[in-house]
Amino acid sequence: MFSKKEFSEKDVLAALSAVMDPDLHRSVTSLGMIKDIEIKGKNLSFTFELTTPACPLKDTLEKDAREKLKNAIHEIGTITINWTSRVIGQQDARKDAVMPGVKNTIAVASGKGGVGKSTVAVNIAVALARDGARVGFIDADIYGPSAPLMFGLTGKQPATISINGSKKLVPLDAFGVKVMSIGFLVDPNTAVVWRGPMASGALKQFMTDVAWGDLDYLIFDLPPGTGDIQLTLAQTIPLTGAIIVTTPQDISLADARKGYRMFENLHVPVFGIVENMSYFLCPDCGHRSEIFNYGGGKKAAAELGVPFLGEIPIDVQVRIGSDEGMPVVASQTESAHGAAFISIARNVAQQVSIRNANPDSTPEIIMD
Ligand code: ADP
Repeated sequence: MFSKKEFSEKDVLAALSAVMDPDLHRSVTSLGMIKDIEIKGKNLSFTFELTTPACPLKDTLEKDAREKLKNAIHEIGTITINWTSRVIGQQDARKDAVMPGVKNTIAVASGKGGVGKSTVAVNIAVALARDGARVGFIDADIYGPSAPLMFGLTGKQPATISINGSKKLVPLDAFGVKVMSIGFLVDPNTAVVWRGPMASGALKQFMTDVAWGDLDYLIFDLPPGTGDIQLTLAQTIPLTGAIIVTTPQDISLADARKGYRMFENLHVPVFGIVENMSYFLCPDCGHRSEIFNYGGGKKAAAELGVPFLGEIPIDVQVRIGSDEGMPVVASQTESAHGAAFISIARNVAQQVSIRNANPDSTPEIIMD
């Protein structure tokens, strides 16, 4: 026997209409995030559909929803929330013509080499996949591919399949991420001598001739600087946005600003700046040293009017993780560096959601 309902679906929706999505500035009910309301006696269950599984605001939304329900419906018993997500995709005919199943494309860039751009790109990809998103990764650093090593895929080769009569490469899978790199296809010493058009051609093929299927986020690890590959990418598909990785030294920051200007000229929104190698925590005594200076990334972000997405300490484990093909977000989620990457990945997903909800806006700055 079902017990009589003590309150109605309408009461639930009225209470939840006071819960605002802090990013999208609308109530969660008007955004259609509340689904499948079931009331059994005093007990309520419903589904909360987020705009990304990597939502950094989940805990805030949950706390607010429970509070609003308890305040508005005094007789309420247990509240069970089932979380799901549906990533909003970038609406664009040009992108759909090239990669119809890919919802969002995110470029990870840096002004200069060696700042940890690939490390950040790989860890963001794996973190998003761990949160439940469907993620792809294109190693667009044709002259210096690092994805095979960092994903633990060295020596592996992609299979080919035929889709509607045309041959496609099947990306390799690592940590739930679909990966494609020139390093899987040619000897690394071969691509190094390619001329610009050949490298650009290879990148284009990664977009058109790979069976990506349905993806929430496709991450591009760009070569450092502002060259042909960056241009090719922005001209082939309109990117949802870009992230700029820097270290805190002035020289790196100056190049990060150049990177920002390039994306501005290409009309690619910049989701924000990541500061890598921000500080060093001594594993023995916990002392913090700011080896390369500190805080420049945050300052540069403020100056350019883009969000600061987070900072990552220098840690030998990060380097070992990259060299051994075991990204730290897959193995050391509790560590300072693992947690930093996870938080950055969620901040990126948040910026994608904000951008897609307001396609004409500039990226929003979130204060800590
Ligand atoms: P880029 O793509 O900018 O050239 P990489 O991601 O290849 O840089 O990183 C350069 C080197 O620095 C790699 O050996 C990598 O493991 C290491 N590295 C990157 N980030 C960190 C970090 N936070 N702590 C320690 N080593 C790091």
